[in-house]
Amino acid sequence: MGLELPEILNISKQLNSTVKGKTINDVALGSRCASLVKLGMCNLDKRKDEIINGTINSAQAKGKWIFLEFNNDRLLLLGELIGKLLYHRNDSELPKNYHVLFEFDDNTSLSFQSSLYGFLEIVDPEQLKMHKYAGNIGISPHDKNFTWLYFKDVLSRNGNQPVKALLGLQSDISGLGNVYINDILYEVKLHPKKKAAELKKSEQNKLYKTIVEISMSAIELKGSTQEVDLFGKPGKYIRIMDKESTNKECKRCGTRIIKMNILGSSSYFCPNCQKI
Ligand SMILES: [Zn+2]
Repeated sequence: MGLELPEILNISKQLNSTVKGKTINDVALGSRCASLVKLGMCNLDKRKDEIINGTINSAQAKGKWIFLEFNNDRLLLLGELIGKLLYHRNDSELPKNYHVLFEFDDNTSLSFQSSLYGFLEIVDPEQLKMHKYAGNIGISPHDKNFTWLYFKDVLSRNGNQPVKALLGLQSDISGLGNVYINDILYEVKLHPKKKAAELKKSEQNKLYKTIVEISMSAIELKGSTQEVDLFGKPGKYIRIMDKESTNKECKRCGTRIIKMNILGSSSYFCPNCQKI
C-alpha cells in the first residue's frame, strides 16, 4: 500500500510524456484535502498561486517522491503517496472525489485521491534542501551507485536498527516501503525485528542481492498489481507477502504466515523461516 520506487519511476515517466510542457490553469482542493493540510503534508491551500500559470519543465523520480519542476523555479513535491495519481484527458474522466485537482490550459488534468495520506508541497530550491524528507533522499536500489560496498557501509552505520527499519531508511536506501520490504525479508528469511548488526555475512550478501533483484523485477513489471499508474492501469508485480498471505501456509515450510504490527506498519512473515 502506497507508491514505492517501482510505481514512482513508472508514473514519473508517464508524467514526462503527458504533462511536461503544460501550464497549470487552476489548482482545486477537494474538501477532504483539509486533513492533509492539518497533518502538515500539504501547503497548496496557502501556496497554490505560486504554480498557477507555471509550466512544468520536468518530472523527476527520487525514491518515493516525484519532483515536478516549474519554469518559475518552484517545485511541486509529491511524496509518500498512498492513493491514486491519475491523468484525465477531459472533464468527462474526472473522479467524483479527489483531494487535489491540477487543471491544465488544454482541459486535461491530474488528480490525487488519497486513501490515507500523501505529501503535496510547493517549495523553492532553497526550501527543498531544508526539507525534512525530500531534502535528504538517498540512493535507490536500481541506481548504479547502489553497490555492495555502499550497502555494507549502510549496514555498518545502522547496526542497531531492525532490518525492517533499515530497509525503510529513505536517507540511505530510498524508494522501498512496507510492500517490497515484506517480500525482501521473506525471500532472505529474515525476521523484521532482527538487528542489522546480527546478520551473518551470507545474510548480508543475500539481502543486498535480493533488494536489487526484487526492486529491478518490480520496476520492469511497472509496480504492484495493487497500485495503479497515471492511466488507472495496475502494475504486474504480484506481492509475495500481503494481507491475503495471513494464515496461509508458507510455500517453503508449510508454517502459517503471521501478521504483526512492527514499527508502525503490518509485517507478514513466516515464524519458522524468519526467526529472530
Ligand atoms: Zn516458512
